[in-house]
Amino acid sequence: MKIAIFPGSFDPITTGHLDIVKRALPLFDKIIMAIGVNSVKKSLFSLEQRMEWLEFVFQNYEKVDVGTFEGLTVHYCDKVGAKYLIRGLRNGSDFDYEKTISQLNNIVGDDIETVFFISRPSYSHISSTIVKEIIRGKGDTSPFLPPEVKIDLNEI
Ligand code: ADP
Repeated sequence: MKIAIFPGSFDPITTGHLDIVKRALPLFDKIIMAIGVNSVKKSLFSLEQRMEWLEFVFQNYEKVDVGTFEGLTVHYCDKVGAKYLIRGLRNGSDFDYEKTISQLNNIVGDDIETVFFISRPSYSHISSTIVKEIIRGKGDTSPFLPPEVKIDLNEI
């Protein structure tokens, strides 16, 4: 069984993330959307809220599970029996960052392979960071989010 983990903050999940999952689905038997709980990186949305959105977005995707982990991604891979990581590449900075992480994970994680998806042109400008900026400015983020993800600007 080919199991892949798509690790990220998903703060919040965007249409860019969703596109990567859809493209990765034919390659794997199971994809686990895994929110990394990181004490240094502060999120705008709570872990519960981010999980809820992921579960809602992928409710009709039989092959997609949702999980959370603390610590190293490769340890989580071991725990769930995943041999593959999924990451998206939007530009050169993503590449530089991801290259190092992937090489480290491959060594620390005992042959964990990272599979990269170059983002489609229509999604390469989308990031959770930009979405958060728009939210802070009380703008409309719906063009960047799956329809299941509804932001209540009054609650921010
Ligand atoms: P992280 O906190 O690790 O950056 P993110 O939730 O921001 O996690 O993103 C997780 C992964 O999704 C990363 O590999 C990132 O490059 C990828 N990604 C994010 N947005 C897009 C997009 N619009 N198109 C393609 N890949 C994307």
